[in-house]
Amino acid sequence: MYTARSVVTDDAISGQVDLHCHSTASDGILSPMALVSRAKSAGVTLLALTDHDTVSGIAEAGQAAAEQGITLLPGVEFTARWGRRVVHIVGLNVDCMSAALIEAVSVRAALRRERAMEIARRLEKRGFTGAFEGARRLASGDEIGRPHFARWMVAEGHVADTAKAFKRYLGAGKIGDVAVLWPDLADTVASIEAAGGAAVLAHPLKYGLTRTRLQALLSDFQRAGGAAVEVVCGQQNPAQTREILQLLAQASGDERPLLASLGSDFHQPDQSWRALGCVRLPPDVEPVWNLWQTGASK
Ligand code: AMP
Ligand code: MN
Ligand code: MN
Ligand code: MN
Repeated sequence: MYTARSVVTDDAISGQVDLHCHSTASDGILSPMALVSRAKSAGVTLLALTDHDTVSGIAEAGQAAAEQGITLLPGVEFTARWGRRVVHIVGLNVDCMSAALIEAVSVRAALRRERAMEIARRLEKRGFTGAFEGARRLASGDEIGRPHFARWMVAEGHVADTAKAFKRYLGAGKIGDVAVLWPDLADTVASIEAAGGAAVLAHPLKYGLTRTRLQALLSDFQRAGGAAVEVVCGQQNPAQTREILQLLAQASGDERPLLASLGSDFHQPDQSWRALGCVRLPPDVEPVWNLWQTGASK
């Protein structure tokens, strides 16, 4: 089976590493197979596919990775709740067949279906008829997200681009921003651990939190059993990387130190600033893949 957890050999870390990206199983544009080919061309030797709330692309990606000589870590990017906020927790090297993972995915699939219907109802009220069917058609996987509504609105000529769709209709505080009671941070980390994986706090600077609140988030995450933080993710400048490194150093005071992860958060080829595989960890951090290196036990 290609959905099994992987061991990370020296070969697997001899090239580029990208541990955060999306395929058509969620809101990415490339199929899992095309994504793996693109990663291969970009020199990636260790890749994690981390679709939003689903692992339905892992089998195809795993097969393609095996054929192309890339090591694939089965992954997922879970939507979770921290207080009243939404945070993203990446699960790396999870056992896709485990009861814990299947449960965590199916709970979210139900929440996403309900949310998609509510988003569509609200858009219909604004005169955007056919929103649900339109978004569902664009979601080739079973995960319907706001980007599918955004792309449908662009395709229908309602807005010029997806950024505008978020700005006007789908982003924070807009009509399509439907509140959802996602499983909370601690439950999410526990699900990932129970599935044999490592929980990674995704893109810590993208939640609009003050420094103090970020420290609280990291501390709750660590207490829940979180293993790593994305030190580099997507579009990020060196000052932001330094900020995350400082947060990590503070958080790693007396507890088990948090490891470092990285990823492009690649969704589509025309996002040139988030090219697949074009990310690198700064020196002097302990990478999350040390957990799975040959001989290491997790
Ligand atoms: P969802 O998981 O359905 O809540 O949608 C969140 C996804 O929407 C993120 O993973 C991004 O891919 C995308 N997204 C969020 N904000 C924006 C934005 N302002 N413009 C374009 N895409 C966005
Ligand atoms: Mn996304
Ligand atoms: Mn995210
Ligand atoms: Mn992502």
